[in-house]
Amino acid sequence: MHEIVRTPEAPHALARQSAANGRRGRTLRQALGLFFDHPILKRHRVRLTREYSRGTSHDEAGCSGNHETADGFAVREKQSDAAIEISQRTTDKVMMARCIELSRSAASKGEYPFGTVIALDRQIVAEGINSTIRGGDVTRHAEIVALSHAQKTVGREQLRRYTLYSNIEPCAMCAYCIREAGVSRVVYALGSPVMGGLSKWNVLRDDGLSDRIPEIFGAVPEVVSGVLLCEAQQAWRDWSPFVWEMIKLRGLLTAPCGQEGNIRVQPGHSRSLWHYLHILLMRSCQARIKTGSR
Ligand SMILES: [Zn+2]
Repeated sequence: MHEIVRTPEAPHALARQSAANGRRGRTLRQALGLFFDHPILKRHRVRLTREYSRGTSHDEAGCSGNHETADGFAVREKQSDAAIEISQRTTDKVMMARCIELSRSAASKGEYPFGTVIALDRQIVAEGINSTIRGGDVTRHAEIVALSHAQKTVGREQLRRYTLYSNIEPCAMCAYCIREAGVSRVVYALGSPVMGGLSKWNVLRDDGLSDRIPEIFGAVPEVVSGVLLCEAQQAWRDWSPFVWEMIKLRGLLTAPCGQEGNIRVQPGHSRSLWHYLHILLMRSCQARIKTGSR
């Protein structure tokens, strides 16, 4: 008795087989379903999605192993996704702890306790604290200070792979800059229902900006809130117990949603076709300018 072993075939071979079957009565929908559900394509599609959404080029959780069956692959993918999720949450906490440390440092320098970190995984490229009081400039919010450093360090184009961490929900002004800089993830601790660029004015998650003007605004970022909420509150309380009580009474800074510690807003959209066309156009213009300048 022979054991039937099914080995994955190349997707194009399956498509040809599906077409032939179609002539024998199989519908086009069935053929396409067979094609797109093939394990090889599924594996490739999941890997690409993960790489894009995580902003990393390598799967840390062993995704590169051999997969004998579609079921085995699915189990490993679930384990891999869970491991990545845990790793991401740990990274978010580490980066938020640094933001809170910066917020305490800002308070010790006579500023309001705001701190921002911009990082890829755990590699920090820029940090910022408010300098509105010392600089006499209302635009010098921690997020904008950090964004300014990050653009000089890694360039605006790279920022779509980075996460911006802040102890407080970015205000509308900062949220606008975050969108224009193209940052792909935003993580904060305390919500800001009166001034926030998400909970008051939905600048962070407004897909109309990137859909209508993709050449200017980055895709809608993923937003995670409530990370190290108690620690962030404590830093403000330590800065000034009286001011903190007033802030609480007026509902200026609050937990993002009840007692829940970590709230994730749906993942961001990918870039649109217009965005890629604009990048191509800009590169060709730059190449022409360089050629002309020689
Ligand atoms: Zn701001």
